Amino acid sequence: MCRCHRLWHLLTYWTYLQLAILNSPTNGLLPHHSRQTSSPLSCCHPLRIHFGQIDKTRTYQTICRGWVQGSDGEWEWEEDDPNFVPAVTTTTIDTSSTATPQLPSGKLKPKQSLGQNFLKDPNTVAKIVRAFHDDATNRGNRPGKPLDSIVELGPGAGALTDRLVTNYGTDVLQCIEVDPRSVEILGERYPSLLVHHADVLQVNYPAMAEQEGQPLVIIGNLPYYITSQILFALADASHYGAVDCATVTMQWEVAQRMVAPTCCKDYGILSVVFQTYADVRCHFKIPPTVFYPQPKVDSALVGLHFLGPSNLRQRLAGVRPQDFRNVITTAFRQRRKTVRNSLKKIPGIEADELKAKLDSLPVPLPQSVLNAQNTGDVFALSQTLPDNWASKRPEELTPAQFIEVTRLLFGSRTTDRNEESQQEDVPDLGRKVWRKLKHGI
Ligand code: SAM
Repeated sequence: MCRCHRLWHLLTYWTYLQLAILNSPTNGLLPHHSRQTSSPLSCCHPLRIHFGQIDKTRTYQTICRGWVQGSDGEWEWEEDDPNFVPAVTTTTIDTSSTATPQLPSGKLKPKQSLGQNFLKDPNTVAKIVRAFHDDATNRGNRPGKPLDSIVELGPGAGALTDRLVTNYGTDVLQCIEVDPRSVEILGERYPSLLVHHADVLQVNYPAMAEQEGQPLVIIGNLPYYITSQILFALADASHYGAVDCATVTMQWEVAQRMVAPTCCKDYGILSVVFQTYADVRCHFKIPPTVFYPQPKVDSALVGLHFLGPSNLRQRLAGVRPQDFRNVITTAFRQRRKTVRNSLKKIPGIEADELKAKLDSLPVPLPQSVLNAQNTGDVFALSQTLPDNWASKRPEELTPAQFIEVTRLLFGSRTTDRNEESQQEDVPDLGRKVWRKLKHGI
């Protein structure tokens, strides 16, 4: 038997061994939907193995080693990590630039169901906080504003929190964390730090900002299983001027979708929404090796500067955010089709009226958009719809052109109303335009 064949047999044997383990009674594949009790094995991405020149592609399930099920049914990370220092027992923290993030071993084993991939690399922590500081002091509408109201989402074991406390103090920082173990640990470490034991998707950000008397500045190494929902919650809050900016980690692919230009395969709902609501920049890529346990994907640090109510209202040119959402989500549901075909079943318009509108030419741009175009506003300059707009694919329309499609289909509420009366509309925008209705207040 030649070496190639031997290697092939070895690989086949190894694969069958894995499949046998996965399908055994103790490690069987469990359903995806059970958040509390599903096996970490079940959420592993299928591993596509390419056998080079032999030209065989097969899909297998990978094994996640290290996850064990605790007595409460939760899957926790069991393996010892030699890079972690022992538990913190005093309130003193190491403020040197190379301080290793602390994971109180035994006290806070990472839970997969909460997306707990803790930062373990001090340099990455320092880079994230530096980018956050730049976002919060130098960009968007932030220059000149005091850094008085910082909110960390999901502080976990406190890798970022330690650095934030060192830099800004506990007075201006508050955290939102759903894991009671983390709330307890941070409470012991920083008795004067406000740590809300809450779900980030349930928080009323406008009320929080009102209490603070200023917009919030957000930072977080987000739990990836709810990244989009968190971002949508912040977009909703930006209607109320509740959030100025957010510097957050996310899966690299999600970041790529947020910054994708038109006609790119990554361009979709996230691109249209966040390029309309905010100025988005991808700061840098983060490898899996800086986390514990290591995720299977690359991550990115993204900075978002939300437009704020007045600029956002101007950008939306009078269309209702609900209608905008309706158009984008319907259009991208069938992204291979033309806009005309994908919007054929959009809810909220009678069939005859819809057909006529889908066959019609664009409506003239409102004066506010023409004015913005005259000042060189890049977003407004990309707002003009081509005559054959309905024969294009969704990914060919810019975010601004989606606003025009929405205006054409659903009309504009505010073209003939002044700024003051538009402000009165804010409450009826609702707090849950973008985030799922089942989440949040
Ligand atoms: N900030 C820590 C770090 O960088 O090491 C932890 C980041 S870890 C990726 C995500 C954190 O978000 C975890 O501490 C997890 O418990 C918390 N979390 C998960 N879901 C949450 C939710 N719905 N509301 C609040 N916190 C949540």
